[in-house]
Amino acid sequence: MSHEGRQQIVILLGAPGTGKGTQSAWLSRELEIPTVSTGEMLRAIAQHDPEIKRLLAAGSLVSDAMVCRAVEAKLRGELSETGVILDGFPRTVAQAEFLDHLLDELGLPRPLVVHLLVKRDALLARLTARRQCPKCSTVYNLQTRPSRAGACCELDGERLVQRDDDTETVILRRYEDYRRIVTPLVNFYKGEQYYAINGDRDPRLVSSELLDIIAGPSALAA
Ligand code: AMP
Repeated sequence: MSHEGRQQIVILLGAPGTGKGTQSAWLSRELEIPTVSTGEMLRAIAQHDPEIKRLLAAGSLVSDAMVCRAVEAKLRGELSETGVILDGFPRTVAQAEFLDHLLDELGLPRPLVVHLLVKRDALLARLTARRQCPKCSTVYNLQTRPSRAGACCELDGERLVQRDDDTETVILRRYEDYRRIVTPLVNFYKGEQYYAINGDRDPRLVSSELLDIIAGPSALAA
């Protein structure tokens, strides 16, 4: 489904493990809008930057300045033509303010924000069972979405890995960080195009609701 000529800025907000990565990949294909995942960008940087690797493994947030620089570089490039789905950004009010200024400056529309809600215990179960392909980043889940190729990626045969920050202690730390920052962020976007939806359902149902919101009449009118 193409939405040619319409630049949309979609922000997927949610705790770690709410399905932002899965849903943004699906939406990207469906709407033909690229995704920018700051987590993916930082994991790539971490391969040659020990300090970033340490922060990610500890579940700590990377500095606003660094993340904003990386997103800005993307948005000033070809994404200003197509719009973008943002996965994992903004994560602080300072990042949200930065994004606002940048969108204004680039003449891009206000973002549409969809907040995926999943309870803490469900998140913990999801994340400890998450496995990822280190080559193509496809995400699997031992319980709900096992790879048909067993311990390897269905797409490229690479051996799946558990992310350094998907251990129980680090997951709880990331979740507490999320709880601390989410209220100010939601307050920042409330009153705009902000939607909170139940992310604790079959991913196909979540995708369908997301598509209704993003491609629906209110989004078109915006
Ligand atoms: P994610 O893949 O979105 O769960 O992100 C993985 C890790 O990357 C996070 O735990 C943070 O350490 C870092 N990270 C991702 N996005 C941001 C952001 N917007 N601001 C700061 N740190 C981030």
